[in-house]
Amino acid sequence: MKLLITGGAGFIGSAVVRQAIAAGHSVVNVDALTYAACLDNVAQVADAPGYTFEHADIRDSAAMDRVFAAHTPDAVMHLAAESHVDRSIDGPGAFLETNIMGTYTLLQAARTHWETQGRPDTFRFHHISTDEVFGSLGPKGQFTEDTAYDPRSPYSASKAASDHLVRAWGETYGLPVILTNCSNNYGPFHFPEKLVPVVILNALAGDAIPVYGQGENVRDWLFVEDHADALLTVLEKGQLGRSYNIGGENEARNIDLVHMICAILDRLRPRDTPHADLITFVADRPGHDQRYAIDPTRMQTELGWRPSVTLEQGLERTVRWYLDNESWWRALQNRDGVGKRLGAG
Ligand code: NAD
Repeated sequence: MKLLITGGAGFIGSAVVRQAIAAGHSVVNVDALTYAACLDNVAQVADAPGYTFEHADIRDSAAMDRVFAAHTPDAVMHLAAESHVDRSIDGPGAFLETNIMGTYTLLQAARTHWETQGRPDTFRFHHISTDEVFGSLGPKGQFTEDTAYDPRSPYSASKAASDHLVRAWGETYGLPVILTNCSNNYGPFHFPEKLVPVVILNALAGDAIPVYGQGENVRDWLFVEDHADALLTVLEKGQLGRSYNIGGENEARNIDLVHMICAILDRLRPRDTPHADLITFVADRPGHDQRYAIDPTRMQTELGWRPSVTLEQGLERTVRWYLDNESWWRALQNRDGVGKRLGAG
């Protein structure tokens, strides 16, 4: 297929681009190159015959119309977004503009393209979203695809709105849409403002490792390469109009995750004292959701998909990748806001 992938210079989008090219698809990577982007993430496919990069903003309707007309994609995988909850607390406007209005603009351009092509039912608009749209769980229960939306941060509210728009374009205009909501990703090329890389890089530098509140918040952790594999599976085999929850089957409290990373570093890069001594509890995030958990039944039973790595295996691979790719993350540490406490309210 010829895939138009938005946000392909970001963390997850670049994993999808790399896997899609490896699987033999053609890829048009559409990215505005915000602070979160890094073209090095797709350097290994930049010269592949099926790969094209389009520096364009999804909020720019003329640019989106041009990109669709120039490339006539068979499917869209929409990952471009403002993605950091803490930044959404400090500056929600950009989240509403890109995640809501950008998705609207992209939907309209996709719809025009699809209608021009004679409304093929093989076309797909695959919208990539988050489990955060479902809100916060107590100690028990899991999100299913039927869980009511209850977003609580500007980020998750903007993603929820974008999900609603995508479903509306499916129902109202017949656009062939499909949605996925996944849990917290981690892995190689993760921008150094998110929890896992912050822990690794602060531990390596011997700096305090900040943990919000008491570190009791629970997340389900999904290795990014598994997520990319799941997305391509949904694109190829998923049922039109349906949504799929994608999880890692790896629930952990933040504090336990941090201890796991410290233990790996104690083994791979020992220092005089355990890395866990650097853990420092800091003021909690305002409105911090307590727990997210994914019921993976639909992915398992309908598509036969399960994650390939455990949290222990995925973290080991991630830590080793950061140890081996210092020039990648050093260059990003100078970007605006990185290394600072954001979203403290
Ligand atoms: P990211 O912040 O690493 O990358 C986002 C990419 O989108 C960047 O390359 C950026 O330049 C691009 N972008 C931003 N605004 C744009 C615009 N207006 N026009 C074109 N490109 C633009 O994000 P990520 O972590 O890779 O997340 C990708 C998608 O997956 C997002 O939609 C996010 O909501 C979703 N998601 C992420 C996670 C996670 O744990 N990271 C979990 C669930 C869902």
